[in-house]
Amino acid sequence: MKNINNLWSIRMRASKSLLKKGEKDVPAKNNHKEIHISGAEGLYNKNQINIIVKNYIKRALSHSKGFPDKIIITIEKLNKKPIIIKSLPVITIISRNLIESKKIVKRILTSTGISEKSIKKGLEIVKKGNMRGAAILTVTSGRRIEQDYKRGVRVSRLGISKESLKTLSKLLKKHDINTDTVREAIILASKVSSHKDVIAELCVSDDPDYTTGYIASKKFGYVRIPFIKRYKCSTGGRVFFVSENSDIKDISDYLEKTPVIIGNISKSIKRITFDELLSQSDN
Ligand code: AMP
Repeated sequence: MKNINNLWSIRMRASKSLLKKGEKDVPAKNNHKEIHISGAEGLYNKNQINIIVKNYIKRALSHSKGFPDKIIITIEKLNKKPIIIKSLPVITIISRNLIESKKIVKRILTSTGISEKSIKKGLEIVKKGNMRGAAILTVTSGRRIEQDYKRGVRVSRLGISKESLKTLSKLLKKHDINTDTVREAIILASKVSSHKDVIAELCVSDDPDYTTGYIASKKFGYVRIPFIKRYKCSTGGRVFFVSENSDIKDISDYLEKTPVIIGNISKSIKRITFDELLSQSDN
């Protein structure tokens, strides 16, 4: 990234209407007028705009969730200098099936200090799905504190420098996980985790073909969990677990509006069991 004082936020969102032909404003099902097909965003220099927009359109038109009938691209100059952060370490947990992964999810969340009540609520939210953004729950009492329950909080204005992207791609390639999905999840999770009040993030993709979810936290890093949901299940979601007395306005402003860029990559990448994860965090 040549000039971080002169960056642009580029965002893409592709969707498909659920209204039947000729139908005016009565949604087909679930009270939703459209389904989300794909989305992407990043922070770029002016000379990258053309190529990035071209790539985003290509992605919008070739997603496994279907063909969109609306693609919205926003290209916006940042009015603030981005904060530079380091990416989280990457860990893949060894799990053989859904049952094992379900236990692992609960145990990791418990180990980051989240109460049983809050975990239960978080798991219900991702199971239900149908949100555009993330729900925010307090760690102990499990209070839901985001303003708009239907939409949730959308993490935005985030990116990675060209040099860091190269380093990250090289690292992920060695472990055969160098995909758009993994890279973008690491960028998002690293931004979310960098807020002082965020304790952990749980993510289950709503892509029916993608069954690896993650829990990200300052304590363990970005921890990928295979078999987090059933294959061909198209619901997913995100939950951010935050300290009990967090200021929701401060968290939302940071996640949605403050530009953050990854400028340094953690070189740690591992494939380990849950017990190994716990023992390494004790050391
Ligand atoms: P995905 O990993 O893109 O399949 O998204 C899984 C879920 O995460 C979605 O259903 C949304 O609820 C949520 N989500 C997607 N993108 C964002 C974002 N930028 N900020 C917050 N939540 C998001």
